[in-house]
Amino acid sequence: MTEHLHHDFTLSTGFKTPILIERYFVVNDQTDSSLFTDQIAKYNPHIIGDATNYLFVSESLKSAITYSGNSVSILSDYDTHAIIRSEAGKNWHEFVMEMLNMHLYGIENLALIPGTIGAAPVQNIGAYGKEVADTILSVHCLNVSTGEKYVFSKDECQFSYRSSIFKKHDYSNLLITHVDFILSKVQSPKADYPDVETFFIEKQITNPSSHDIAQAIIAIRRIKLPDPQIIGNAGSFFKNPVISIETFQSLLLEYPTLPSYPVDDLNVKIPAGWLIDNSGYKGFRYKGAGVHDKQALVLINSHNATGRDIYELSLLIQHNIHQRFGIMLEPEVNILL
Ligand SMILES: Cc1cc2nc3c(=O)[nH]c(=O)nc-3n(C[C@H](O)[C@H](O)[C@H](O)COP(=O)(O)OP(=O)(O)OC[C@H]3O[C@@H](n4cnc5c(N)ncnc54)[C@H](O)[C@@H]3O)c2cc1C
Repeated sequence: MTEHLHHDFTLSTGFKTPILIERYFVVNDQTDSSLFTDQIAKYNPHIIGDATNYLFVSESLKSAITYSGNSVSILSDYDTHAIIRSEAGKNWHEFVMEMLNMHLYGIENLALIPGTIGAAPVQNIGAYGKEVADTILSVHCLNVSTGEKYVFSKDECQFSYRSSIFKKHDYSNLLITHVDFILSKVQSPKADYPDVETFFIEKQITNPSSHDIAQAIIAIRRIKLPDPQIIGNAGSFFKNPVISIETFQSLLLEYPTLPSYPVDDLNVKIPAGWLIDNSGYKGFRYKGAGVHDKQALVLINSHNATGRDIYELSLLIQHNIHQRFGIMLEPEVNILL
């Protein structure tokens, strides 16, 4: 036992389905690299942040590792922008609010997304028309088996919709330790997302500031999404599928109200929530799990669900959506069997 290792640690998760971790390594910037080669390498631990985007199907896990450092520093300060470094253990939403208080802009649309800084680049968190990739300069990681350190430039991170190089199997042993952001001192509020537009029309705010955007998004999210502290959930369970324009047009013949968003000349993105809602699943219950009654894309722990209940519900939905629309939904949540 070292100060970095906890035995039989119970971790709470976004779904409120606790998981017992036999060996839980907690590391930071001061951790000696010999710990990685001498101990951690043997166990090949899963990398975990706040576990808000994980579904653990079994109730125990052999080993996991997390990065606990959470300091934030200004690396460079220019007239128009600043470069900020945050350690991976910092809470994402706290970071967004601290940056706004320092009059640094660019991440306000991502307010109230649960989880840590370290997880943000992994699935390139996004909401209300913005993605974290827009503000990332570089990502610092270390290989949990060797302790070797690497820096990925934004281009090397290969960011795309809810994805990055860190999602690829070959990179799954890279623990993100720090993220460098480039944040603007000039506000360029992005308020053209339908819910946000409606919010400002109703409040009669004509030129919203970045602070207004954050407050609007916090208010909208509190209404639309269940608070994981109260009702276990992991946010959107599935990604919005990208399909060819040809497939979309043939689906339109049968489902003329099917919405779409342009992707490129060949493909469109369609809302997974629409497919699930239009298959009658909103508010549906399966064992202890369910589909949120205000947002069909969110699966919830409605009544003491196990990870398996939620997983089975997700398979049921996936199967029925495939049968009905010919589209295989891909989970956004990280599922560990
Ligand atoms: C109510 C709710 C709303 C949400 N809304 C959104 C949303 O609007 N947009 C959005 O994009 N997401 C959303 N999410 C998903 C979630 O907030 C993000 O995926 C978040 O980044 C997860 O952070 P975490 O620290 O909990 O990561 P975890 O759940 O612990 O891990 C998620 C993934 O990141 C990896 N990871 C975590 N930390 C590190 C690290 N230090 N180094 C390397 N890999 C790491 C893990 O291995 C795993 O693959 C929502 C979730 C909930 C519960």
